[in-house]
Amino acid sequence: MTKSLECDVLIVGGGPAGLSVASSLPKDIRSIIVHQDKEIGRPVRTSGGTWVRDMKALAIPEHLYQVIDQLDFYSDHAQACFEVNQDKMAVLDITALYQYLETLSQHANRELLLDTKFISAKKETDSLYSSQVRSRTKGDMVIRSKYIIDASGWHCAVLESLNLGKKPTRLGVGIEFEFPRKNFPKNRAILFVGATALTGYGWIFPTAYDTLRLGVGVINPDTDLSPRTVMKAFVDGGHAKRYGIEIPETYETNAGIIPSTPYEEKLVYGAVIRTGDSANFATPTVGEGIRLAIEYGRLLGQELGFYIQGDHKALSRYEAVCSKTFKRDYKFGFMMNQRIASYTPERWDKSVKRLSRLSEVEMTQMVRSNFSMGMIARTIWLSLRAKFKKSH
Ligand SMILES: Cc1cc2nc3c(=O)[nH]c(=O)nc-3n(C[C@H](O)[C@H](O)[C@H](O)COP(=O)(O)OP(=O)(O)OC[C@H]3O[C@@H](n4cnc5c(N)ncnc54)[C@H](O)[C@@H]3O)c2cc1C
Repeated sequence: MTKSLECDVLIVGGGPAGLSVASSLPKDIRSIIVHQDKEIGRPVRTSGGTWVRDMKALAIPEHLYQVIDQLDFYSDHAQACFEVNQDKMAVLDITALYQYLETLSQHANRELLLDTKFISAKKETDSLYSSQVRSRTKGDMVIRSKYIIDASGWHCAVLESLNLGKKPTRLGVGIEFEFPRKNFPKNRAILFVGATALTGYGWIFPTAYDTLRLGVGVINPDTDLSPRTVMKAFVDGGHAKRYGIEIPETYETNAGIIPSTPYEEKLVYGAVIRTGDSANFATPTVGEGIRLAIEYGRLLGQELGFYIQGDHKALSRYEAVCSKTFKRDYKFGFMMNQRIASYTPERWDKSVKRLSRLSEVEMTQMVRSNFSMGMIARTIWLSLRAKFKKSH
C-alpha cells in the first residue's frame, strides 16, 4: 500500500529558497521538504558569487564565504579592474552554506525527505492538495498538505504539474571546473566576456577552502552551443594562461541551469506559492540568486505563518514586497540581458572600456541589477541614439 503523510506545508526543493522558507515558518506548523538529491548542497549547481553586506544582513557566518577585494572584467582586448573597498564581493562555500541553512530549519515539526522527487499534485479541495512523491529508498508516497511551496528552481515542478505555469524556455546554462587555487590570489575574482563566452560570461572565483572555480554560462536558445563546448574551446585555446591559471588534469565539474526570462509579479496561486528561481528572483544581469532566494524565502515562511494564523493579507504582502524589489529593476535588467546576449566580441571590447570609466558604486549597482533612474535614462538615451545613427 502507498505510504501516506500529512503536513500543513509541503516544500518542494531543498535549495536555498526551500530551506529558508522552512527555517522561518513558525515551529508549530508542520512542514515537509522533499528534495530530489541525496544530500543537501551536493551536487553543486551554482558558483556562489555574492556580497558581504548581504551575508552580514542575513547573518551568514563568515567562515562560509571568501571575501573578494579585487573584481576584474575582461573582454578579448580590454579590461576594467576594480579594487573593491565599499561593497565587497564574496564567494560562498555552497555545500557548507546550504547544509547550514538546513540546520536552521531543523525542529520537531519539520521533516526532510532526501532522495525524494515530487512527481505531481492534485487539488482535492480548496484547502487540501495531495502530492505524489517518489523516494529512491521508500518507493512512492502521497503527501497531503494545505499549502505547497514551489522552490524547485528552474524546474517549476509544482506550477507545471498543476497547470499554473510553465518551465522557462530561455535558460542560462553553466558549467564549472573546480580545482586547487595554487598561486591565484585568494581575494581576486574575474568575470570575462567576448569570444570565449558568447551570449553569456565566464567567471573565476576563489573559494574559502582554497579551490578555484572556473566557469562559463551561455543562454540557450540564444546560442545552440552548450557550455561544455564553450568550456572545451576555452581550455583547448589555452585562454586560462591569460588569467594566470593552469587547469590540472583532474578537477570537479559543477553544472547548473537558471531561468533567463522576464520577471512576472504573480507568486501566489491560492495555496500554491512560488519562490527563489521558480519565481525568477535571480538578477537578470549576472544571474545572481542565492542571497535573494534566502531573503525572500525567509520572508515567505514568515508571511505564510502569519497567513495560517489568520492574517489574510500576509501572502499579498509577500507578493507586493517582491514586486517592489524586483519589478522595475528586473524589467530594465532583462532588457540589458537581451541586448548584451547578442553583443559581438568587438562590442564587448567597447563595453568593457566604458565599464572601466564607472565608479566602484556604479559598477556594483550594475552587477547587482540595482539601477538608479539616471542609469536607466542614460542607457535608454544611448540605445535610442545608436538606433537613430543606424537608420541614417
Ligand atoms: C551556472 C550557474 C551559476 C550561478 N552562479 C551564481 C552566483 O555566482 N551567485 C548567485 O547568487 N547565484 C548564482 N546562480 C543562481 C543560483 O544558483 C540560484 O539563483 C539559486 O540556486 C536559487 O535557489 P533555489 O532554491 O530557488 O533553487 P535551486 O538552487 O535550483 O534549488 C532547487 C532544488 O530543488 C530540487 N528539485 C527540483 N525539482 C524537484 C522535484 N521535482 N522534486 C524534489 N526536488 C526537486 C533541485 O534538485 C534543487 O536542488 C547560478 C546559477 C547557475 C546555473
